Amino acid sequence: MADTTLMSIPGQVDPVPVARDITPREDGRVDLIGLPKKDIAALFEGAGLDARQAKLRSKQVFHWLYHRGVTDFEAMTDIAKTMRPWLAERFVIGRPEVVEAQHSTDGTRKWLLKTADGHEFEMVFIPDADRGTLCVSSQVGCTLNCRFCHTGTMRLVRNLTPGEIVGQVMLARDALGEWPKGKMDFAEEESEAEYTADGRLLTNIVMMGMGEPLYNFDNVKSALQLVMDGDGLALSKRRITLSTSGVVPAMERCGEEIGVNLAVSLHAVSKDIRDEIVPINKKYGIEELLQACADYPGASNARRITFEYVMLKDKNDSDEDARELVRLLKEYKLPAKVNLIPFNPWPGAVYECSSPERIKAFSNIVFEGGISAPVRTPRGRDIDAACGQLKTAAEKKSRAELDREAAMAAAAD
Ligand code: SAH
Ligand code: SF4
Repeated sequence: MADTTLMSIPGQVDPVPVARDITPREDGRVDLIGLPKKDIAALFEGAGLDARQAKLRSKQVFHWLYHRGVTDFEAMTDIAKTMRPWLAERFVIGRPEVVEAQHSTDGTRKWLLKTADGHEFEMVFIPDADRGTLCVSSQVGCTLNCRFCHTGTMRLVRNLTPGEIVGQVMLARDALGEWPKGKMDFAEEESEAEYTADGRLLTNIVMMGMGEPLYNFDNVKSALQLVMDGDGLALSKRRITLSTSGVVPAMERCGEEIGVNLAVSLHAVSKDIRDEIVPINKKYGIEELLQACADYPGASNARRITFEYVMLKDKNDSDEDARELVRLLKEYKLPAKVNLIPFNPWPGAVYECSSPERIKAFSNIVFEGGISAPVRTPRGRDIDAACGQLKTAAEKKSRAELDREAAMAAAAD
């Protein structure tokens, strides 16, 4: 469990190696969230339990953590009363700290969160008629500098740990009140029916928050394994989508080792334009990227790859662009759907969103080419629920607060 330093990487395209898988706490206790069962067992053994006890206790604790969502060892009723303080002295059950929570009139919820060492990141929940999708962050900031993306302008970056990633899902379940209620004393005291997963609000996860998930591969993988673990959060891999800007060398591994659905931030169909708006394109070009998509393990007509395409006025939104998009997706025989995303402007952005008519015309051409191309309706506009925007609002506020303090100090003088 090595330490990490902050990374300041303007224009950086390569992944930044970060060894840390746990954020150290000042009180020296270890946060169990984010650790697989075997690591919890190893910690228990290291703290003095014999191997058999450690294994048994880790199984019980794991179930309480991920199946029941408890945050207090005292609630673990099948663990001996004397053992609970022993656990609490050495371990914690962490959650990211909530800096700010917002609720949009359309039901979208957005949280600005903070790691134990003080870094802010975001999470968004988007309810729909038939599903509820949690948009999860993988990094604080992003080392890539897509020109239309506000996260890409943030300087400080570090990878989130598995605990900080899966912790977002735990926190969302807390906020939505979705943990099973009642007691749990393995088998005897509770019927299965009391903790089935039916009727939950949080049904899908997209790795589309802040950061490039494939540049934090190991931690994202560990976190998603906990999300998919039948003894853990037990969400199907079919309900999880990972979005990448096109880190070609990690895509095959993603399909093989994580096995979730893939979304690719394509956003342009020519080298010039994609180089400009998604600079990782200079390293892994469109052809290479589409070939990696064609080879993506597990992709099929039943499990299509989503191509994200942000609509930027007079940049990538012409009829020719739409026709070229269809041609490319067909050339590589991709089981594809296209998500057209209206550009969400932010202060200082150099682009504008295409007009609704232009977006409609673009969508029609792709659709007529035989590829589904829904326009993603902007959600949570009243709370700025787009990548990187809540964080800025909070930063602005603290700046305003600083100014106010300075003014007050000056007045006192
Ligand atoms: N880094 C990954 C995942 C996070 S970004 C990636 O790039 O795919 C999630 C999606 O939001 C991407 O498709 C990204 O291009 C898009 N996005 C970022 N900023 C946006 C903005 N201001 N308006 C619309 N879409 C944006
Ligand atoms: Fe990073 Fe994705 Fe934003 Fe590009 S779009 S800067 S890869 S978060």
